[in-house]
Amino acid sequence: MSSIPPILRFPDELLVEIVASGRQTSVYILSSEWVMSHVCRRFRYAVTAASTLWTQVTLDLCRDKSAELARLYLQRSAACRIEMNLCAMDELQVPKGIHYLIPHISRIARLTIAFETHQAFYTIIEYFRDVALPSLEHLEITSNTEDDGTGLDPPLDFPPLQMPKITSLEMTRCIPSFPPPQWMVALTHLHLRDNACPTGDQLDIFRFITRQHPSLLYLYLDLSKFGFGPGKGITSRSLTHLDLQFDEAFSDGLSYELASFDTPHLTHLGLHCTHGDQLASLFNSTRPTQSPFPAVTSLTFTNLGQLSCDCDNEELYGYQRITTPPRRLFPVMSSLTLIRECFTPRIISDLLGPSSQPWPLLEVLAPRPRVADEENLYAALQDVVRWKRSQEGPLPLFKLSPNLLNRQFWVENGVNVGLLENDDGFKGRSTRMAVL
Ligand SMILES: [Zn+2]
Repeated sequence: MSSIPPILRFPDELLVEIVASGRQTSVYILSSEWVMSHVCRRFRYAVTAASTLWTQVTLDLCRDKSAELARLYLQRSAACRIEMNLCAMDELQVPKGIHYLIPHISRIARLTIAFETHQAFYTIIEYFRDVALPSLEHLEITSNTEDDGTGLDPPLDFPPLQMPKITSLEMTRCIPSFPPPQWMVALTHLHLRDNACPTGDQLDIFRFITRQHPSLLYLYLDLSKFGFGPGKGITSRSLTHLDLQFDEAFSDGLSYELASFDTPHLTHLGLHCTHGDQLASLFNSTRPTQSPFPAVTSLTFTNLGQLSCDCDNEELYGYQRITTPPRRLFPVMSSLTLIRECFTPRIISDLLGPSSQPWPLLEVLAPRPRVADEENLYAALQDVVRWKRSQEGPLPLFKLSPNLLNRQFWVENGVNVGLLENDDGFKGRSTRMAVL
């Protein structure tokens, strides 16, 4: 028997896989590659030799040691494509740290720029002017500027950038100026969050997105500070995935906001920061007469509240019983996901319980209730099963969180259940592209 501990007999490849699965991008957490490279000489050798483990490079220009660490990552990542995260508080910090990055620009596949003054952004982006970024696929811009009291952030101007492979742009608390840079026409993924800026500018950029954007497939739009207004919804022939975030306090009017959409190829629609009573009134709505979502098969609602929301006080917020499945608005919808939605047990009873109308199209029902509603949801689902069994009607697949999945009732009654993955879709950034 060898006296070498089993952990040290691991093949290097397995060790590298384990370290890779624990990687984090945050600079505030000690990353797995960093920790494991300090465990022992054997680990250090294996981990530092694996260039793919060192591709998430953070250069936080506000932090003293960050440039040294970034330089080490750039060196250890060898010729691999990299994910570069740049943060700057102000423009004065930029020149002293960014020169480490310049020789590696051609390797950047994902670039994140976070800044606290617009001047810091312009100083950073100037380093990329007229320099080819041949590998860049995803660009992320986050404004952390101090609110001047208006809550508005002026749109950003981009210098000429050569990014032949770019397909994905994510902007938080900022938008590009109008007309937008030419490279935006090639985007397939666009995420705009917390995008408060002067109303005229927003209108311009949204008009561009929805009418002149032939390749856009995925759009995330924050409507919490902005509404399209009647007859000015999203018009797009290309979009397949659309996620909309609303103002939490937004009480009614989902049907009003969505009525003027024209998205004939959309297959997934996510409506976030919404409440169960809004879902009910959307499903009950009689307008528009022509569905704006004729191809939507998957519909998701999420609520932000982890524990409760004001809706629990029913004197303030009335839930209107759903009288008919939303077949007119979503004629081919087959999957409904409800994440932390208030009124979830009632919604399910209305849609599938004893007083419901037949809805054989629904194949997947994925409810993740707030913890306090779990037992009520379980009871509502049991009622649905008993009712459907008595009618010999079809049951959808229930996708459930582990706590509800492991109930004997499903086994005893031969109910088709599956695991609901722990993914909101809402915070869901664009699907991470493989960098390596
Ligand atoms: Zn609610």
